[in-house]
Amino acid sequence: MYKGEFLADEVVFLTQNGIYLVMCDTFVAVGSASETGATIFGKNSDRPEDEVQLVIFLPEQKRTIPSSLQCTYITIPQVPLTHGILLSQPYWMWGGEMGVNDKGVAIGNEAVWTTEPIAQKGLLGMDLVRLGLERGNSAKMALDVITSLIEKFGQGGNCACDGSMHYHNSFLIADSREAWVLETAGKWWVAEQITDGVRNISNNLSISNNGTLCHKDLIEFAIKSNLCRDESSFNFAKIFTTGYWTPNIPPTGREGRIKFMLEKMIGDITPIYARGILDDHTGGVCMHGGFISAGSQISTLSQKPDLTHHWFTITAPPCKSVYLPFTFDNACRGLTNPGPHKDINESWIWVIHQKFFKTLTGSEAENQRSKIKGLDVEYSRKSLDYKGNINQIVRDHNELFQKYQKQIRSNNTFNL
Ligand SMILES: [Zn+2]
Repeated sequence: MYKGEFLADEVVFLTQNGIYLVMCDTFVAVGSASETGATIFGKNSDRPEDEVQLVIFLPEQKRTIPSSLQCTYITIPQVPLTHGILLSQPYWMWGGEMGVNDKGVAIGNEAVWTTEPIAQKGLLGMDLVRLGLERGNSAKMALDVITSLIEKFGQGGNCACDGSMHYHNSFLIADSREAWVLETAGKWWVAEQITDGVRNISNNLSISNNGTLCHKDLIEFAIKSNLCRDESSFNFAKIFTTGYWTPNIPPTGREGRIKFMLEKMIGDITPIYARGILDDHTGGVCMHGGFISAGSQISTLSQKPDLTHHWFTITAPPCKSVYLPFTFDNACRGLTNPGPHKDINESWIWVIHQKFFKTLTGSEAENQRSKIKGLDVEYSRKSLDYKGNINQIVRDHNELFQKYQKQIRSNNTFNL
């Protein structure tokens, strides 16, 4: 009996400690799946409820002198050129949960639990997201950057600021032409190319063969380890998951719910519709509780500047937040200084927003939430009309940021 031949009726997400722990959703609509033909990328970053997530901007940087780069836990060689990036970053780490670069590449990661041992030190999945963005001028190049760094330096380290949280990673990497789902188990990896349609990932290994590309020794390792008979019977997800694997994703969970929402709108998916996916409570996509959707991103990626847009929430969760439009311009006032930060700054809008909503009762909270979302849709529609005009987008970003923070900081209820 090969592990790869095991089938079960349900998907189980199980940590090494036997605790159910699920977080993060990332999706993409490529090419003809969207209304305009632009690729639409979206992610909710689900993290511990008190872990602040910041949106930061780092401009393109050129270096003439070789230098080293301190990531969250390990140091690696720096490269001569790093692209400009917008990154949604848990405040205490070097890397980020998701982001986009000025070459039109977007990346988000997911925690996955695999049968391979987790190294105590290495590159965090979030470090790899940032490294892929800083070094990749296309989705394929970012994929190559991440897989080569995993093979050379390894992934690992504690993913929690407080306590212990260890996992391997999957990634969704997209540009205007294609997307890649990259799934890993320790140093092993497999990648699936997506050139059309929709795809989403949610803390679950999902590639059921050896993908479009894989680690060069992967099949040989699996056969020698008695994990499969031959290449044709190789199933990355079945072999490496710590839970069970099934091709029939339950429609009631986050992964199945997003798949359903994407597939029913193929050809008509818009950034506004993408907000509805990330705000979804029917399948629990917008997460509340001990883990919350602490940051959210929607990007439209196109070779046409007028179809290229990036929005990030700077507060949490997305159902109670506006998505600010961002450009690669540090005139955007919603940006924060890049981490890692040692301590939480009580004046960060993310912190104040959390406190603001905790003061509201049920009906008040719902009233405020509804006003915030009305504002969000109004500004989102406006920014789509600007056809990529950076000055207009920055102006609206700052106007929306000012309106938003004025109410929160004064602890008044929104009257927008
Ligand atoms: Zn919500």
